[in-house]
Amino acid sequence: MAEKNVAIVLAAGRGTRMHSAVAKQFLFIKGKPVLYYSLQTFEQCPFIHEIVLVTAQQDVAYCKKEIVERFGLRKVRQIVEGGKERYHSVYQGLLAAEGCDFVYIHDGARPFVSLDILKRAQRDVSLHRACVVGMPVKDTIKLADADGFCEQTPDRARLWQVQTPQVFAYGLIREAYEKMLEALAKQPELHVTDDAMAVEMMTDVRVKLTEGSYDNLKITTPDDLRLAENLLGEGKQ
Ligand code: C5P
Repeated sequence: MAEKNVAIVLAAGRGTRMHSAVAKQFLFIKGKPVLYYSLQTFEQCPFIHEIVLVTAQQDVAYCKKEIVERFGLRKVRQIVEGGKERYHSVYQGLLAAEGCDFVYIHDGARPFVSLDILKRAQRDVSLHRACVVGMPVKDTIKLADADGFCEQTPDRARLWQVQTPQVFAYGLIREAYEKMLEALAKQPELHVTDDAMAVEMMTDVRVKLTEGSYDNLKITTPDDLRLAENLLGEGKQ
């Protein structure tokens, strides 16, 4: 049988930087919720077989009625409850995706993932078992010291800003996450900000960087919402 690919779309965060009572993934761009746009891209992608949507308990009914049913998203087979940190939500998604071959973990707050990005990720994960979408940085990046002074200037040619989806062979990411959760129980001060970190920290597998797009932005602040409206105006979706 052909491989089974599952998208885990995360929508359980509250997003305090938006200063809005509504979580960023549920704000509207051009009359539709931010979360709708990436779900629709996975829905239309021929090699994604199922979508697991992860959201907060109080948003499950809204997601089902106002997003999944309203827009006829037939690949969303499960809506599961997330957790306190992003990695808790991912782990709930991984449990729900058990039995698949590859998982595409995606932030529901990134509406502009495209079919081309998904195709590049599919190619890289089939070659390397782990890949994360990102783009080379355009600005010089400084490492700051504790007092806010420049400590180091890493070589820009090797720096990437990382986006989602982050795509993995299922067994690999499940095992890496379980080991990482054990490590976090002992060292809660560890900052885990993406999924690739689990594979980097807990396995010998190298994670490939896959070309994303500068448009694949994450809605974090009100400025991002305006930018997203403009991108849609240019016909991005
Ligand atoms: O907060 P951040 O911007 O890193 O969130 C990225 C994505 O992860 C968002 O789509 C958010 O809804 C999701 N998230 C989650 N569960 C959390 C925290 C964030 O599903 N506990």
